Formats: sequence, structure tokens, C-alpha cells
Amino acid sequence: MQKYYLWTLGCQMNVADSEKLAAGLVRLGLTPTDLPEEADIAVINTCSVRQHAEERAYSKLGRLRDIRRERPGLKLAVMGCMVGLKTDDLRKRFPYVDVFARPQQFDAIMQLVEGPAEDLGGEFWPSTYAVPDGPCAYVPVVHGCNKFCTYCIVPYRRGREKSRPVEEIVREVAYLTAHGVREVTLLGQTVEAFGHDLPDQPDLGDLMRELSSLDRLHRIRFLTSYPKDMTRRILEAVAELPRVMECFSLPVQAGSDAVLDSMRRGYTRAEYLAKIGEVRALMPGAGITTDVIVGYPGESDADFEETCELLEALRFDKVHVAAYSPRAGTIAHRRMEDDVSSDAKADRLHRVEEIEARISGEINARYVGTTQEILVEGVRGEQFFGRTRTGKLVHVDVPARVGSLINVRIDHAGPFSLRGEPVEALTLI
Ligand code: SF4
Repeated sequence: MQKYYLWTLGCQMNVADSEKLAAGLVRLGLTPTDLPEEADIAVINTCSVRQHAEERAYSKLGRLRDIRRERPGLKLAVMGCMVGLKTDDLRKRFPYVDVFARPQQFDAIMQLVEGPAEDLGGEFWPSTYAVPDGPCAYVPVVHGCNKFCTYCIVPYRRGREKSRPVEEIVREVAYLTAHGVREVTLLGQTVEAFGHDLPDQPDLGDLMRELSSLDRLHRIRFLTSYPKDMTRRILEAVAELPRVMECFSLPVQAGSDAVLDSMRRGYTRAEYLAKIGEVRALMPGAGITTDVIVGYPGESDADFEETCELLEALRFDKVHVAAYSPRAGTIAHRRMEDDVSSDAKADRLHRVEEIEARISGEINARYVGTTQEILVEGVRGEQFFGRTRTGKLVHVDVPARVGSLINVRIDHAGPFSLRGEPVEALTLI
């Protein structure tokens, strides 16, 4: 029996793609292995968002080339965001790789499989489901992105927004819940873009309503949000539907209008503030995380101060911060000078990290003494863990059934997680 080795870098969308590819390879009769030395096919699913991720992929490819010298039958494939429309440069640089596949374009990888194989034809996406290995699963609902932020490679690698039909998503989630999944996270690069390209133009709220009718599904999350696509109608659906978690990942990227404009984010600081205000007016306890890039080309000290002021004012649950680094193929790389010094980038990064640690610590501390509903996701060592509706990680010291919803009295808050004891089981599944 042939074996595959699959190594994944990057975001939840890449994780979901890898799970889907794995399901397809299993359907063709392959079994997984954690050891590339014993694999017949090795696939690396790459990320281009940061230089570091690309360097890790290069290093992994070097290791796989060495293994292939010992094991000439090993087939190598590279997929994900490192692979663009044109692969000439990659082919020159990595001549030993058999296949370069763009995100979600799995056919070429499937064709590497030898021997009798089921012809999946056009049925790959609608009918090949990732095999769940716990109560939580990712479900891509819209692929690609139309936004073209100046620093981002995604639209060039993942193509334009393309929504999956509602019925197809509902069928997949029903399959997942029949196999133990209790929480799904609906994925899109800009998840609220879902539906605009479908015949009846359903929106994300309509999809959430459909999914809420599935008996065994307890929780629905969604990411990543894009401020301009997040309509009042979608927000009202999140607020109204009890199975949809009031938890938002809403990248702001910068607090200054000049930098937002240069990034082509499509909104102003005032519009972003208003959007957060709308979320909190409808759902006062909502968990909200954001992303920030510091040291963007042209970002002055005053621009950066505006970002810090915005973070102080909006008090996010978590801020994911990165220092700008130019990514080949983006508008910023072609047209902008990377003119903020490395020292200034490091200082700004550090300052945002300090703000984030203080504020998220204060927010976490407010959970102590409260009772929170968590879905038990798994166990590490002796500790069970799960998340609150707002996305906070909670550790529970006493045994709890994985996949069950329990109420937990929070007795300790740390910078990254909470701890508590169950007070009652809500459902046992
Ligand atoms: S919204 Fe902007 S940052 Fe997000 S994936 Fe699209 S282009 Fe990239």
C-alpha cells in the first residue's frame, strides 16, 4: 500500500486544504505516514505570508531532496501559496520536485498516485470530506480574495473569490457532525464575501441559519472577517443565532488613514472604529481579535502612534502583530520602498506586544469568578481544554468528555489562557 507524507505551513485555510487533500489520497487507497523516509509521495503545503515561512519550506525541500537520493521512487509535490500561475522560477530552483500545484488544485498531485485509483473527476470538492479527528473542524466556504491589499500575495495565488454552494457546505457539515464534529469554523480569506457570486446571493448569515438547523452541531465560528464586507445583516445573524459564536477576527492592520490608504485596505480608521462599535452595540461581550502590520513603507512615527491609540481605545482580546517584510509579487514590493529601519520596526513591534499583553491580561482577569460555556476539544497530559464562546482557551483540571459542552467556573487567568472547574454538563454527546 502506498504512503503519503504531508507537511503543512500557514493559516487555517492551508490546514483545511491539507485535510481535504489527505481525504482524497486516502480515497485513492494511500495511508498517511509521519516519516518522509517511508513515503511514496511527499507533499509540502506552503505559505508565503512571511519570509520565515518560505525559508522553512526551502529547508524542508532540501531535506526531501536528500531523502529522494536514498529513495529514488519518492515523488515530491509542492502546493499552497508559494505556487503562482507561472512556475518557471520554482522549477529552475527545485528541479527535483515532480509537481507544483496552486492552492486547492489537487488534480496534479492525485495523478502522481500509481496503480488503480478511483477517478474522482469533478467530484473531488463536493464529495471528498476531510476525516475529522476531533470535535472541531474547518470548513472553507469561499476561496480566493478580490481585495488586492498592496502587501498581500493571496489574490495572486488563491485567485478570485469563489463561493461553494450552500447545499454542498450543508452536506459536508452534516457528514462531519455524523462523525463526531460539534463545532465548525467557516473559512474564507474574507469570509463575509461568501455568497455574492452564487445565483441567489445568499450571505454568510443565511448560511449560518441553514447550518444552525443541524441537530448535532453545537457551535459555528467564522474567520477571517473583512470590515467592509461585514454587513449589518450578517452581524444581526451572529447576534441572533445561539449556535454562532460571538467571536470576531477582524484585522485592522494600521490605525492611520495614510497607511490604510497605502495598504489599499478599503476603509478608513473612522469606518473601522464604527464597525467595532456596531459589533459591540449588538454583542457587548463579543471576543474580538485583530492583526497589525508595523513598519509599513512610509509609516511615520505619528502614523504608528495612531495605531497604538487605536489599540488602546478598542482593547482587543488579542493582537497578532508582524513587522512588514516585502513579499515578491505584491504591489508593495513592486512600487514601495521598504523605508522603515529594522530597528524602528523592532521597537514598534515590541511596543504593540506590550500594549497587547497588558490589555489582554486585563481582559482575561475579568473572566475570573465568571461561569463560561466551553466545548471540550481535547486533552493534553492530565488537562482537558476547550474554548469559551468568545474564543478564550480554558484548561480544566478534572476529566470531561471530549465533544461535550460544559459550564466552567473560571478561577485563574493567565496571559494566554484561563483555568477552571466544571460546574455542570450542558450536554453529553
Ligand atoms: S483582504 Fe487583503 S490581506 Fe486579506 S487575503 Fe485579501 S488581499 Fe490579502
